[in-house]
Amino acid sequence: MTATIIDGKAIAQELRGNIAKAAAALTKEHGIVPGLAVVLVGNDPASEVYVKSKSKAVTEAGMKSFDHKLPADTSQADLLKLIERLNADKSVHGILVQLPLPSQIDSTLVLNSIDPGKDVDGFHPVNAGRLATGQRALVPCTPVGSVILAKKIHPSLSGMDAVVIGRSNIVGKPLAQLLLAENCTVTIAHSKTKDLKDVCRRADLLFAAVGRPEMVRGDWIKPGATVIDVGINRVPGEGGKTRLVGDVNYKEALEVAGAVTPVPGGVGPMTIACVILNTLRAACASAGLPEPKV
Ligand code: NDP
Repeated sequence: MTATIIDGKAIAQELRGNIAKAAAALTKEHGIVPGLAVVLVGNDPASEVYVKSKSKAVTEAGMKSFDHKLPADTSQADLLKLIERLNADKSVHGILVQLPLPSQIDSTLVLNSIDPGKDVDGFHPVNAGRLATGQRALVPCTPVGSVILAKKIHPSLSGMDAVVIGRSNIVGKPLAQLLLAENCTVTIAHSKTKDLKDVCRRADLLFAAVGRPEMVRGDWIKPGATVIDVGINRVPGEGGKTRLVGDVNYKEALEVAGAVTPVPGGVGPMTIACVILNTLRAACASAGLPEPKV
């Protein structure tokens, strides 16, 4: 058996096109141009690449991008002042502070200072609480993108057994909440889970968000299951270069699963698309408009 490969790149591209159309309609009908402010402190090369691709995606969707690049020795007080300004700025609908922040800055304090209505990363406790209680919320982008990919295979996830490996606040927990809202029966596994392989083998939907290269082997997967690999791991490749692999052994998964996401080209591109989706959603909510349909 060879699994269907879920093409995250193509699905993200289509989603970005739909977001651009919805943004254009918002501008035409309500005079609102969604704006995203991205704050980068320091010059971590991976973060710089990520911030650049976010800004490009925002501009391509017909939205405004406001980049704030601050030196690595920026004080916490100065960063908090910038966020206060962005919270008050009516042309800014989304604020994203790139992590990790330098050690002199308390990340939790900074993230909690973002207006929850502009928190396009969905990390603020108000948004986590709203998600958990079924209220309109800004939800972390990677989990949203992961569920969109699963729904491309199964338009209704209702009644399915879903296993999420990983319980971080940015991926595992919000992903489990989204799956619960889709009426899945959800198991959250983590480093203390017993018999992880057997737990995974029960899953119709298996989500791996661990950060351990190719940890999930073919015999962990129920035949025909849908496997969404959130992991991004750099491992040594040919000629001293590094290559990216997921948390799932892709070759083995292809033999057993019904559908599987590749790494790269699976969840990664969806995360960026969902940043612009959340910017659009924040802009609509700020104007008292219903959720955009994309
Ligand atoms: P964290 O390190 O915050 O969380 C990892 C989770 O995996 C923890 O809950 C941990 O359990 C669990 N875990 C660790 N080892 C094991 C094990 N041996 N067995 C079972 N569970 C284990 O990572 P993130 O949630 O931030 O990220 C997870 C992965 O997703 C990473 O590879 C990251 O690079 C990737 N990622 C990808 C994104 C994308 O856009 N595609 C975006 C964000 C992340 P415990 O809680 O018990 O310690």
